Amino acid sequence: MVKQTIQIFARVKPTKKQTAEYFVDCEEQGGSLEFVVPRDLADGVINNKRENYKFRFQKVFDQTANQEEIFEAIAKPVADNVLAGYNGTIFAYGQTGSGKTFTITGGAENYNDRGIIPRTLSYLYQHFSKDSSMIYTTHISYLEIYNETGYDLLNPQHEASRLEDLPKVTIMEDPDQNIHLKNLSLQQSANEEEALDLLFLGDTNRMIAETPMNQASTRSHCIFTIHLCSKELGSAMVRCSKLHLVDLAGSERVGKTGVGGQILTEAKYINLSLHYLEQVIIALSEKNRSHIPYRNSMMTSVLRDSLGGNCMTTMIAAVSVERKNTGESISTCRFAQRVALIKNDALLNEELDPALLIVRLKKEIQCLKEELALVTGEQRSDKLTQEEIQQLEEQIDVYLEDPDSEVTLNLGPDMRKIQFCFSLLKNILLTFTTMHFSLSVLELSVSQQEAFEVFLRDHEDRLSIENNRAVLQQRSVCATELLLKLILLFNEMFNCPIWDTWVNIFVPTTFCQSVAGNLMPSESDSVEERILNQIEEEKKHYKIKSGCLKGLKTEIEHLQLLHEKLKVKLQKDFENWWTQEGARLKLSGFWTVCVCVLLPMTQFILVLI
Ligand code: ADP
Ligand code: MG
Repeated sequence: MVKQTIQIFARVKPTKKQTAEYFVDCEEQGGSLEFVVPRDLADGVINNKRENYKFRFQKVFDQTANQEEIFEAIAKPVADNVLAGYNGTIFAYGQTGSGKTFTITGGAENYNDRGIIPRTLSYLYQHFSKDSSMIYTTHISYLEIYNETGYDLLNPQHEASRLEDLPKVTIMEDPDQNIHLKNLSLQQSANEEEALDLLFLGDTNRMIAETPMNQASTRSHCIFTIHLCSKELGSAMVRCSKLHLVDLAGSERVGKTGVGGQILTEAKYINLSLHYLEQVIIALSEKNRSHIPYRNSMMTSVLRDSLGGNCMTTMIAAVSVERKNTGESISTCRFAQRVALIKNDALLNEELDPALLIVRLKKEIQCLKEELALVTGEQRSDKLTQEEIQQLEEQIDVYLEDPDSEVTLNLGPDMRKIQFCFSLLKNILLTFTTMHFSLSVLELSVSQQEAFEVFLRDHEDRLSIENNRAVLQQRSVCATELLLKLILLFNEMFNCPIWDTWVNIFVPTTFCQSVAGNLMPSESDSVEERILNQIEEEKKHYKIKSGCLKGLKTEIEHLQLLHEKLKVKLQKDFENWWTQEGARLKLSGFWTVCVCVLLPMTQFILVLI
């Protein structure tokens, strides 16, 4: 909703005659029009005191302003709002001959004198042809109100020679207090040419119907209305707005006696409906007025929305600065000041297109049928079409790409679609997890190894660890060699011929002799002795070697213990170092991974070294 006061502009009609003293001021924030009026010759006494009447407007157009400037400044912004879907009204107010018709419709002779109506039509149709994203439809109506009766100026069947021959338009009000104009024809116009034809048809009817008796042009109001509907391609929403371009009856008052004191007193209008218009304006500009007398006249009823309703309204005060007209011009300006106080609430006129509503309802019925099938357990068994699958895939894409965590995926009640989407999502998830897992393992192992190498390079115990490792290695080699020698020695000892001879000959003999108690003294004793000596030698040799091995074993065991201790220390140091590095690099997320994954891996590496 756009809240806006009625915009007021003033236009001074060009004249070659002597003008009153007046000043036009155009500032950034708006303009003003000032009249300087000499005091009247009252009671034959000359009063030289002057009176100034200054009025503020959005902008004041002096005599030199042309039709193009008027259109650009006044009508174009209203037309733009109408294109956006808001109602708009431009009405010209002023005494007869002040240039209302010239401003609204234009001069009859010169193309450049085209007024607001033909220029607005041209502007709108140009816009339609440029904007291919929307579909526009335009209808025109042209209403004349004379003596509280409405006449349809666009009815082509009536070749009116009198106003009374034109179809009469009456007002109807529905229960929601909306105004409907019965008998007013709405003519569709597909292009600018057709719309201009309608304008000329209406103007011709208006002209022909006028007689010196009824003075229709000065005493009637003419309302040219462009009804515009726009719809985006493929959308069910239609925007319908109305633009009223109003040429009001002359505002001159009865009892005008010149520019004297009379102009300040309440005077009667020639035109009763303008009197009612003023009453409506007063009521609207006064706060706390609950009743606005729109119904008093047909004109105020028709323009109800334009005055204090759903409309963006603009008033053009047409003024004549000829001396004799100063009083009327001041009245016109005063009226404008009151009008400027009125606030309107313009709404975007958007509604659903009935034809598209039917399409939408059909879809809804289909959806409900599917829902019913879901509830009753009756399921569709046919496969999803290629088109449906593609649609679902696109839907999933949109759903996954939407950063909003609350976004929903609307699949309707069709179980086939729901199942298809679930399996699609599962596949996506599986692919993603596999990718993610392999990526993270790779990253972690590389970072972990690198980190440990960096840590070890700078560690204080690095030298002792390396020494230790070297000694351990050397000792291990010695021990292995010694062990090998011992095995060989042992093997030699038990496989040598001496040993065999001793075992085969002497052991059984000695056994028999000991059993019999009869030792045989012979030369064999010396052989035995020699063999035994030899064995004794080998045993000594073995003893020495095995003693060495024992020493080595102790040393190795000790070194291994030292090494274990260092490993524990190293592990602790690495944990601390990693915590500090992690905090320094603000890799808080990564740290969690390190604690969970890297430390067990560090232990694994330590086992390896
Ligand atoms: P109204 O509709 O207020 O009675 P008109 O628009 O008929 O007044 O103007 C009266 C005469 O003055 C017409 O002949 C019109 O062509 C002429 N006229 C009005 N305004 C201008 C203008 N801005 N430039 C040139 N001629 C104008
Ligand atoms: Mg006129």
